[in-house]
Amino acid sequence: MAMDLKEGDILELKKAHPCGGNTFEIVRTGMDFRMKCLTCGTQIWISRVKLEKRIKKVTRT
Ligand SMILES: [Zn+2]
Repeated sequence: MAMDLKEGDILELKKAHPCGGNTFEIVRTGMDFRMKCLTCGTQIWISRVKLEKRIKKVTRT
């Protein structure tokens, strides 16, 4: 079953971004997710399946 993830959620991932940060904000949901690295501001695309495997913690504000 798919995880409940919404735009605006802050995710802590197991794998860090090349900049060293591991917290990301969900910008867009779907088959592929658009995520913003909160450390360097870069936006990336990642598939839902791949993303769900990397999530350590979800924070909803
Ligand atoms: Zn980054």
